[in-house]
Amino acid sequence: MPAPGRTGITAVMNLARFPRRRYTPFATPIEAMPRLSAALGGAELWIKRDDMLGLGGGGNKTRKLEFLMAAALAEGADTIVTMGAPQSNHCRLTLSAAAKEGLACRLIIEERVAGSYRTDALGNNLLFDLMGAASQRVVPLGTDIAAELAAEAAAVRAAGGRPYVIPGGGSNPLGALGYAACALEIVEQSFGMGVVFDRLVVASGSAGTHAGLLAGLVALHAGLPVTGINVRRPRAEQEGNVHALAVATAALLGTPAPARDEVVALADWVGPGYSLPTPEMVAAVRQVAALEGILLDPVYSGKAMAGLIALVTSGAIAPGERVLFLHTGGSPSLHAFAGDLR
Ligand SMILES: *Cc1c(COP(=O)(O)O)cnc(C)c1O
Repeated sequence: MPAPGRTGITAVMNLARFPRRRYTPFATPIEAMPRLSAALGGAELWIKRDDMLGLGGGGNKTRKLEFLMAAALAEGADTIVTMGAPQSNHCRLTLSAAAKEGLACRLIIEERVAGSYRTDALGNNLLFDLMGAASQRVVPLGTDIAAELAAEAAAVRAAGGRPYVIPGGGSNPLGALGYAACALEIVEQSFGMGVVFDRLVVASGSAGTHAGLLAGLVALHAGLPVTGINVRRPRAEQEGNVHALAVATAALLGTPAPARDEVVALADWVGPGYSLPTPEMVAAVRQVAALEGILLDPVYSGKAMAGLIALVTSGAIAPGERVLFLHTGGSPSLHAFAGDLR
């Protein structure tokens, strides 16, 4: 029997044990998308607006950084070291959090598409400069990133600083707690709104978002399946990555591990590769902007929405289903892709 006054929800996952900075003073809204749903003529589509999270141009990395920055501060770090692609939302938001906390931030930029890095690029590349990155070092795809991060941290130490290294995408078990917390938020909002969702659809990249959601939903016995849409890797590889991180996140939480067959990460909308535009992505970004007034992004949420639209129009998602799409943010990069989107 649960102790008196204890709710069924918090009894299965105690996130309050983990130090946390607060970068968003509210729960992000869950909104209906009636015009998009009607245009597609199938499932009832809803959207969780994690594009409205805090920090500079908030998106999914904001939730991970609440736990990661708290750990950095607890260790007495004065410099954050992290990495990402040239238009990385993760680098932008880590830099924003570091600026807010009064810490330096050193970025390693992985040029995943050869020749794509330009110092005068708009979008997140411009914002790295505005928020004052302490350094930006560009390395080619195939570089040993773990070694580069370690070398950067060693350079900070050699100069008398105290580095804290955050992995790409903030995707380690501590960062993924941000999305276990989001799972709790979704379950509470669903209860409060009296709206039951049949499925959650989300972009799957460095895997922390997908893995954290799964760990949280399993801990909460939510009965809400997650369909991930890959933006970079083949299906089996991504599902393995998500499962491993979900298991490690559950271990950190002390909750049951998600099973391998609960991990679904479809790879049909990656196109020619990470961050490379596809006609389906362009159509999805334009349709959601025109029908719902919501800005997606070209690299992640646009491809995830292209997947959702295809699953609905093909009937793979049944007409009666109520689907929640997690908008992970990313619209600050739209201007860097203007030529592809017009
Ligand atoms: C990083 C990112 C994702 C993917 O999240 P992961 O946790 O890396 O899988 C999705 N959307 C946007 C906008 C992102 O910046």
